[in-house]
Amino acid sequence: MTIPAELNPRERLLMGPGPSTVPHRVLRAMGASTLGHLDPQYIQYMDETCEMLREIFQTSNPLTFPVSGTGMAGMETVVVNLIEPGDEVIVCINGVFGGRMKDNMERAGATVHTVEVPWGETFTDESIEQAVTEHPQAKLVGIVHAETSTGALQELAGISEVVHRAGMLLAVDTVTSLGGHPVKVDEWKVDAVYSGTQKCLSCPPGLSPVSFSPLAIEKMEQRKTKVQSWYLDVSMLKNYYLGSGGRAYHHTAPINMVYALRESLRIVLQEGLEARFERHREMHQLLRSGLESLGLCYIPKHSLHTLNCVAVPDGIDEAAIRSRLLNEYDIEIGGGLGVFAGKAWRIGLMGHSATRRNVETLIAALKDCLG
Ligand SMILES: *Cc1c(COP(=O)(O)O)cnc(C)c1O
Repeated sequence: MTIPAELNPRERLLMGPGPSTVPHRVLRAMGASTLGHLDPQYIQYMDETCEMLREIFQTSNPLTFPVSGTGMAGMETVVVNLIEPGDEVIVCINGVFGGRMKDNMERAGATVHTVEVPWGETFTDESIEQAVTEHPQAKLVGIVHAETSTGALQELAGISEVVHRAGMLLAVDTVTSLGGHPVKVDEWKVDAVYSGTQKCLSCPPGLSPVSFSPLAIEKMEQRKTKVQSWYLDVSMLKNYYLGSGGRAYHHTAPINMVYALRESLRIVLQEGLEARFERHREMHQLLRSGLESLGLCYIPKHSLHTLNCVAVPDGIDEAAIRSRLLNEYDIEIGGGLGVFAGKAWRIGLMGHSATRRNVETLIAALKDCLG
């Protein structure tokens, strides 16, 4: 064979639904010398990473660590550890990721009751109240905080109260919110939460931060059956991530990915959580006014700052515009998913990508493309 050419990826502006642009600091950290996964120096880096994750999840949950795998592995970790075959659960579906949660839970043997609202809308406390009253045997309620397929932001504090009053656990997907919107795990009493690295944390894809409350751990310890997934079994993983002193080998941790995550979390904390949320809000406002001045309309009523979902005007070939943005301007945005396929653009303002320069560049480029 002829050996392929040397790798030379273009420097795109990543303004889609993820990955977001990765700062050079993070890429450099990733290129540092690989240590052994039981090396005390590495263990220290990993412990520091878990400590910073607690800060960013706003939790004191000891069981907080990065699962080896992308956001979907985090979803699967939460599902397989909390659910036993025959359990009843409630899943809220208003887009792609709620649907995936349901699929995951069914594969784990759960009987899934769904609460559904049209794509782009969010759930009220009353709708969840009704679901927990109809299905009092349910063990947990699963919901997406930031629905990347629609750009809708879900309020959680009131729903959490309803869920806990009914004696159930609350499991939340924060893949597109962590690092861009407040995620208050302890204040909102979230029992199980997962996220991803390549969205608002601006780290390459490859790890999924998760956190479990003491109540979730209690439920896991009461299991009568083994967790169906060997790789994602938290009862074994915790002996590595939370061991004191000696750590038990389970699987080889993705060392250099943890370096990258550690550096990206340092960047988040150096900026400061509040300042970071404010930057995302400001950039969202700037983008929104630019898009609206081009005549584009947002789809969800409660829009995320980190993912902006706008309707494609009639008569416009949305995929053609996206290719022009990519090929002529080196800008990546996303197309619609599911019921929004062909009908929406999804513009990410996540982490390192949420800058004035990017917003102004995109608006100018879109203006050219739309004529
Ligand atoms: C991206 C995303 C996921 C899946 O994460 P991957 O890293 O692609 O596996 C799950 N949930 C939401 C809300 C997402 O945006």
